[in-house]
Amino acid sequence: MSDWNEYAVIPDRPPSLDKKGFRRAIIPAPVKGNWRKFRDYFYYILICIFLLTPWLNYNGKQLLKLDLSTRQFTVLGQTFFAYNAPSIFIFFITFVFSIAYITYKYGRIWCGMACPQTVFIDKIFRKIDKFVEGNYLQRRKNDQAPLSFNKVLKRIMRWTLYIVFSSFIAHTFTAYFAGAKELLYITMESPAHNWSLFLWVQFLTAIFTFNFGWFREQFCLIACPYGRFQSVLMGKKTSTVVYDFKRGEPRKSKGVKTTEVGGDCINCLRCINVCPTGIDIRNGNQMECIGCTSCIDACDEIMQKVKKPKGLIRFSSEEEIESQNFKRISFLPIAFLLIIFTLILSGISYFTLNRPIAHIKVLRAIDTPYRVVQENGRDYILNHFKAHITAQSSSDIIIEKIELAGNYEIIAPYLPLKIKSSKDKWVHFFIKTEKRSIQENKKKLNINFNVVMKQNYLIYPKEVIFLSP
Ligand code: SF4
Ligand code: SF4
Repeated sequence: MSDWNEYAVIPDRPPSLDKKGFRRAIIPAPVKGNWRKFRDYFYYILICIFLLTPWLNYNGKQLLKLDLSTRQFTVLGQTFFAYNAPSIFIFFITFVFSIAYITYKYGRIWCGMACPQTVFIDKIFRKIDKFVEGNYLQRRKNDQAPLSFNKVLKRIMRWTLYIVFSSFIAHTFTAYFAGAKELLYITMESPAHNWSLFLWVQFLTAIFTFNFGWFREQFCLIACPYGRFQSVLMGKKTSTVVYDFKRGEPRKSKGVKTTEVGGDCINCLRCINVCPTGIDIRNGNQMECIGCTSCIDACDEIMQKVKKPKGLIRFSSEEEIESQNFKRISFLPIAFLLIIFTLILSGISYFTLNRPIAHIKVLRAIDTPYRVVQENGRDYILNHFKAHITAQSSSDIIIEKIELAGNYEIIAPYLPLKIKSSKDKWVHFFIKTEKRSIQENKKKLNINFNVVMKQNYLIYPKEVIFLSP
């Protein structure tokens, strides 16, 4: 067990590998402190947001649904369609730039504070470990103990719980895309009715079980694309979790009592012991550091014990450490970004709440450009059109009729037609007129779609070209 701490500090070896290069489970020690307290509350709030959002409804619709198959995105009861792509694009681009800017300013703060990977591992899967195998010391002991009946039993219990929670996360994740109601409905049925979705959820459960149960911090170190990017985005001015080497070095030997000689680091290895990625922050900024702040709390605890000022490990920049000119960390840029986000969201909300209740696109149907029919010895010309109508409203709409002034007649056999909120339908209709009444300059026709929603009656004018011989 003592070996755990020793080989964690050997440089040039990933902390998740043992001496032979095999996977070594990183079992961090618990820590107390202000950052830990903040993260506890914040993680629970995030867990509620991540796991409850798709199961809640607002305005009769799922709170957040990203239906890729129909290209419809529902956010807070409002549905965005494929033709609303500019709003979605603006939001997405702002989000990407904000993350890049936050990384430049504060390093990998997203990873340590808000990433679902960190939050779920910390608050669900490590809790399972503790529940089944006891505190971190017992878990480390179990991990290194030879195989026994007791060890196998605990492993089975642990992995069973992992599968249960991973399955719930997989269902919740799928509900964001497939819809919570639809998913519940499908889940009640036999898998034979929906093999593809059933297999997808099982596949996700397997991936999540593997990731949260075994792969864990290696995802952040090896697989996460954002993690690989951060070294490009961070610089000497980036405020992140750093060790004040000017104050800490030369560190004291392990086990030797604090004296006035040397730096403030007493080499207790507590900062490594609590690190979920198993690194030694005293080696400088590392890609493996997810900015979780555990080592800050851990070292502050030690500094208090040895009666030294807190902050040997702190949020600061390399530049500040070198110059020893520390400034108060400012969260103004985050406030500024929040204002920009609020403005953009207000703009999108205003646009969404004030958009027309129906989106109508009229196309010529795919058949002959016109048709000549005879009725009572007279020639009539018919043009076939189709309208794609989407109900953008939060209530159902009725396409009551299509009107056209003059010598033209509209033949729309399927009207009136009800379209449910956020759904779309194609409406086929014909424009008919007597051949001799067609005037060359009257080929551009303005037709009106009469749409009813609740008590409101709205008219949507559309222009079509009438073709004739
Ligand atoms: S916790 Fe602080 S004192 Fe202990 S080894 Fe880490 S930096 Fe040094
Ligand atoms: S070095 Fe500190 S901040 Fe970075 S991951 Fe380890 S404990 Fe968290």
